[in-house]
Amino acid sequence: MPMKEIRENTLYVDGVSALDLVEDYGTPLYVLSKTAIEERIGELRTSFLDKYPKTRVAYAAKAFMCKAMVQIIEEEGLGLDVVSGGELYTAMAMDFPPERIEFNGNNKSYEELAMAIDYGVGRIIIDGMGELDKIEALCQEKNKKAQVLYRISPGISNIKTHKYMSTGMADSKFGIPLEEGILQGALERAIQSDHVDFYGFHFHVGSQLLDNQSHLEGLGVILDLVEEVYKKFGHRIREINLGGGFGVHYTHQDRPPFAYFLDPLMAMIGKRYDIMGLERPQVVIEPGRSLVAEAGLTLYRVGDIKKIPGIRTYVSVDGGMTDNIRPALYQAEYTGLLANRAQEEEEAPFTIAGKCCESGDILIKDLALPTPKEGDLLAVLSTGAYGYSMASNYNRLPTAPVVLVSRGKSQVMVQGQTYEDLIRNDREVQLK
Ligand SMILES: *Cc1c(COP(=O)(O)O)cnc(C)c1O
Repeated sequence: MPMKEIRENTLYVDGVSALDLVEDYGTPLYVLSKTAIEERIGELRTSFLDKYPKTRVAYAAKAFMCKAMVQIIEEEGLGLDVVSGGELYTAMAMDFPPERIEFNGNNKSYEELAMAIDYGVGRIIIDGMGELDKIEALCQEKNKKAQVLYRISPGISNIKTHKYMSTGMADSKFGIPLEEGILQGALERAIQSDHVDFYGFHFHVGSQLLDNQSHLEGLGVILDLVEEVYKKFGHRIREINLGGGFGVHYTHQDRPPFAYFLDPLMAMIGKRYDIMGLERPQVVIEPGRSLVAEAGLTLYRVGDIKKIPGIRTYVSVDGGMTDNIRPALYQAEYTGLLANRAQEEEEAPFTIAGKCCESGDILIKDLALPTPKEGDLLAVLSTGAYGYSMASNYNRLPTAPVVLVSRGKSQVMVQGQTYEDLIRNDREVQLK
């Protein structure tokens, strides 16, 4: 069952008609194809997990997470990369195997770390030295040992993605900087600590990368460090985590296959460890976007159409930056089509506007479409990652439901909010 196909002028997702979906669930609506997610994971299995021994994949939950997504990841046998108490809580609520959880993020709180250590997560990826203090104190108190990696800021320049999606440059809030004065002490402490088991290094250069150069450069830095640690401390680094960031298709550029990133990275690791005469380490990756982005799309109902003569025509839809902040946040580009008139000739470019009170709430600039009419259905493609997970209630718009489709069947993964939900946590106060 293909992710998308067009039958009788109508868009079908994983075997379900877009018209049926909006009739059953309304608009705006996030739609996720289970088949498409499984296919991407299958690709990763062929080109990474099955191809190279001693490898793991931890899905970066922040791209899209809810209970049902945790179920899918569990069923597929992958690990989960979480970055907050809330993400960890969601995994715990589904009894996700703790040993398959990696805990990332800058500024993890004492409470979040306690939660992770109590649950027994597989790895804690330490982002700064204060964090090691907290972990050691907690482990001592709880008489436990945490399995940790250091996230290193590899100090790469010229990362080929939007600067809001870059993380691996020297001036970054993420990771431990490569300063000799900081790193030396950090390594000594981790290696000698009674409370942590030090596995190795993590780096994550950025997101939506279509070129493998930054990953390769980052790994080069990490491998130099591996060698230094071996020479100085006689300590073999047992695990390297390459992060995520593998790009996907939005508008023009096709997504490169996983192998384009992973084969040269694996070769580089193999070669360095061979030269050192050491056994190759465990290698972990944390793909988020690349597993879910293209599996998702958003359906909107077309509303007001405003033609500004000689300038442009705004086509407003019933969602916008509340369900997809990416265009407003970092000029992310999307494409789309009229789901109910999918075979009609495109007539002109139209600008798709959201309904929020912000001039920046534009979902797509200049999308070629057949002339839209009020009531048409617009599908915006590749919204499976960082759409729902970044949703907000700005303008008190309720968040849209998320529906999972699989081979002609659909079911709700996340219910949409009601107006009642919007005021649920509000409290009246005593004004006098
Ligand atoms: C965001 C993030 C990921 C996932 O990034 P994608 O671009 O969605 O693959 C993985 N690891 C870390 C540490 C991250 O911050």
